[in-house]
Amino acid sequence: METIVSLCKRRGFIFQSSEIYGGINGFFDYGPLGAELKKNIRDCWWNDMVRRRDDVVGIESSIIMHPKVWQASGHVAGFTDPLVDCKASKQRFRADQLFFAPVVVDGKTVAYVSALESERTQEALQEAAETLKRKKAIQGKLEPVVIRDMTEAKPEEIDQIPSPATGEPGSLTPPRSFNMMFETYVGALRDASAVAYLRPETAQGMFADFKPVVDTGRVKLPFGIAQTGKSFRNEITPRNFIFRSREFEQMEMEFFIHEDDDWAKWHRHWIDWCKDWLKSIGLPDSHLSEYDHPKAKLAFYSKGTTDIMFRYPFGVQELWGIAARGNYDLKQHEQHSGVPQVIFDEVSKKKFTPHVIEPAVGVDRILLAVLCAGYAEEELKDEKGNVDKRVVLRLSPRIAPVKVAVLPLLKNKPELVAKAEALYRTLKRKYNVFYDEGGAIGRRYRRQDEIGTPWCVTIDFDTIEKDGSFTLRERDSMQQRRVTEAELLAMLDQQVY
Ligand code: ATP
Repeated sequence: METIVSLCKRRGFIFQSSEIYGGINGFFDYGPLGAELKKNIRDCWWNDMVRRRDDVVGIESSIIMHPKVWQASGHVAGFTDPLVDCKASKQRFRADQLFFAPVVVDGKTVAYVSALESERTQEALQEAAETLKRKKAIQGKLEPVVIRDMTEAKPEEIDQIPSPATGEPGSLTPPRSFNMMFETYVGALRDASAVAYLRPETAQGMFADFKPVVDTGRVKLPFGIAQTGKSFRNEITPRNFIFRSREFEQMEMEFFIHEDDDWAKWHRHWIDWCKDWLKSIGLPDSHLSEYDHPKAKLAFYSKGTTDIMFRYPFGVQELWGIAARGNYDLKQHEQHSGVPQVIFDEVSKKKFTPHVIEPAVGVDRILLAVLCAGYAEEELKDEKGNVDKRVVLRLSPRIAPVKVAVLPLLKNKPELVAKAEALYRTLKRKYNVFYDEGGAIGRRYRRQDEIGTPWCVTIDFDTIEKDGSFTLRERDSMQQRRVTEAELLAMLDQQVY
């Protein structure tokens, strides 16, 4: 992760927000390359999910909506995480990410140990227990630790559990609910009647706009309403770079089906679709898996939720959630607004509330996944046998921020430069391309490898003296071949879509 974070900073993909003021925790800025990469991910999704399908329409709803939307959706009452304070250090932890274990020697609890969730929480707590026993010179047999998180702590245990901030017991508070929505005020008054929320998800926009979309008559069941946009959550512990931040971007789609339709079939359809789509933008199958939420942990209205998981360097984590939500959301809005959220069934001549399947994903999480999966360091030998390291970002041409780098072989030969500039201008009308004339050609290739540019073209003397063709160098294989402008344009048209 550190290597990727430093590449992102060095090459202008992602910066800490407001860095000149020391940054603000949980907020990030996308630099020139990052903004392109993110836009490409969003555009690919929009093209595949909305434009290329006949059964999905797109909308763009406002970020601040009527506060009743969030009462109806259940967010005002229930969009909470359990929070634990450390009174000594003033640090806050998510209770379900703070683990502890009693240290049991000869059947007796002698102390407690704690650790924040990591890839090896169990081992960390076992080691902590062994260290504690050794340091306090406690005699007897240490039992293997049994770990729990703070939401499972008994009231009498809380005072004995050490804070991960100080290592000392006595400063942790019992878990309490913390609502993650950011509040603001709309209008000049700052009283309770003016409270509004920054949306914590884009999904409610689709439910709130269900009726106007149906009334404008462009849709017939089954159909979807999709949107992309910023969401805000006051996460207690933003972490893992852009994986969990407080301002992030979502791409969500609500797929409405007949109440008698086979929801499980549609659920499966969308899980497969989402996985295939992730592969189409270059994520390897080997890093993807599925996690079915256990029935007992589902909300009462939920029929099933499956997450597509991705193997990040910090562990296997949720990337995309596909939830079968029944007709809960529309029913809630009907109840709270008094406006029927129904569709007329031509066959039965009855009105009913459709059910919904919701694939919900974060753009930032996809972006982090493609960086993690694409990053590679290779050792190469030159003709003299010297070993050289190559950093390469294997991004799919669909999403790579720069599609082609145009390089004149020499910058002091006006004929080469003029030809290269002309090609650059032609390509730039359709694609984000980069012109680079500085430095040895090998070094210029490497600069492009590091930012994921799939192709470099070099304009050399053969280009101007012979048939106008130029050298096309491929990022992954590093192989070079001669192509004409028409061949290059045809290849780009096929691979960048
Ligand atoms: P988590 O359990 O990781 O908090 P969630 O189950 O609450 O996520 P959803 O409400 O289902 O997430 O949101 C849908 C998608 O939005 C997630 O799959 C993820 O890709 C993205 N997402 C959610 N929270 C964040 C965040 N804090 N930062 C970045 N992306 C997020």
